[in-house]
Amino acid sequence: MKYKSTRGKVNQLSFSETVLMGLADDGGLIIPEKIPQIGKEDILRLRDLPYKELALNIMGYFIDDIPQSDLKKIIDDSYSTFDTEEVIPVVSFGGNLFIGEIFHGPTHAFKDIALQFLGNLFSFILNQKGQKMNILGATSGDTGSAAIYGFKGKKDINIFILHPHGKVSPVQELQMTTVDDKNVFNIAIEGTFDDCQFIVKSIFNDLEFKKRYSLGAINSINWSRVLAQIVYYFYTYFKSTKDNNELPEVYFAVPTGNFGNIFAGFVARKMGLPIKKLILATNENNILTRFINNGDYSLSKVVETYSPSMDIQIASNLERYLYFLYNEDSGILSEKMKEFEKNRSLSFQGNELKKIQSDFISVSTSNDQTLKMIKDFYEKYSYILDPHTACAINAVENVYNSDDIFIALATAHPAKFEDAIVKAIGIKPEEPSRIKQIKGKPKKFTILKNSIEDVKRFIQETLS
Ligand SMILES: *Cc1c(COP(=O)(O)O)cnc(C)c1O
Repeated sequence: MKYKSTRGKVNQLSFSETVLMGLADDGGLIIPEKIPQIGKEDILRLRDLPYKELALNIMGYFIDDIPQSDLKKIIDDSYSTFDTEEVIPVVSFGGNLFIGEIFHGPTHAFKDIALQFLGNLFSFILNQKGQKMNILGATSGDTGSAAIYGFKGKKDINIFILHPHGKVSPVQELQMTTVDDKNVFNIAIEGTFDDCQFIVKSIFNDLEFKKRYSLGAINSINWSRVLAQIVYYFYTYFKSTKDNNELPEVYFAVPTGNFGNIFAGFVARKMGLPIKKLILATNENNILTRFINNGDYSLSKVVETYSPSMDIQIASNLERYLYFLYNEDSGILSEKMKEFEKNRSLSFQGNELKKIQSDFISVSTSNDQTLKMIKDFYEKYSYILDPHTACAINAVENVYNSDDIFIALATAHPAKFEDAIVKAIGIKPEEPSRIKQIKGKPKKFTILKNSIEDVKRFIQETLS
């Protein structure tokens, strides 16, 4: 399997090269040259596999430059850190509604599924090449903690994570800063998340500095993150259709921010998994809902909601979908991306819009409706939805019918967003033991001014 850039100027990459490159050198996103197809019989053959074995099979379609036994060890190590043997429990709610709990990793948000894998994968590839790397990233909360848990203690890798000082949730701050491995460096910036991101981008744009300190990125555009996420679409599909050998078509509802999670679902569908449509759930930041319902992909301001991991405007993974929408034509795609950079908007009509609507349905959920959904669902099922998952369930309610199967992906444990839960139902969700354990532990971080130079100096001094 070879990989190429959506913009067409980077080709013939191996999987390992794809992982280390992150963003393609021509500014595009990396995708497989051809999405592998799995026939009905092979899908049936996969249906009873435990999660780790299923992962080995699905990823095997995309990876041909890592020996099978090594890939098996990477996968086993990555998912043995989850708090349940099943890795991803699937809960049934009366017949045709299912919730796939993709939040049982070390930090209790779904990003663990990709970042546990990425940590072991980077470590393996770097070791083979005899290279070292220093990971640099910015976070508004969930990604940073999942990345730190993915890379802590890894030989030959240091990880520097910038977060806005005092502006991440208390649990997220604890998760990031109570890790005492010597290769983890938390930098609290006196500024906003956007400031952190700006600093990281500027440092990556200093190519000389980037090279001198072997800086690498792990943000959500890395292909291997998408790859790890494809697996649970298959897994939750099998658990929700257990007694049905006909392979029925299902709906998946996905809380969406950067379009990474749902794009993995789009690839699973292209591979042959019977998904009727993907239900894209947004909060009040509804750019993707406008894109799907009206063909209007135009930026507006980010507003704060109860589901902060979806408080995003530019969806960094959408380019991958647009590439397929433009029939894999890199020329058109490159022009459209340029147009978007200039006008901050793109519009879609006619057949393009029809195509988009044959892949997706979208519903945006307001702040008030998010709390109401958490309350209604709790009263009906005694099950506490986190605010992101509540947006997905609300979207399902909008399009529900009793003949189809609906699978919603629950992207975070409710205890990570306690304030919203208390507002909605008046009680605190039970904390998983790993969250209980870090409370009261000493926090380790360095506060720096909102300054590119200060962060560069910190990296320099740390590494010398
Ligand atoms: C990151 C995140 C999302 C959004 O996922 P994308 O891949 O960016 O669409 C949704 N919910 C939670 C809890 C997250 O951490």
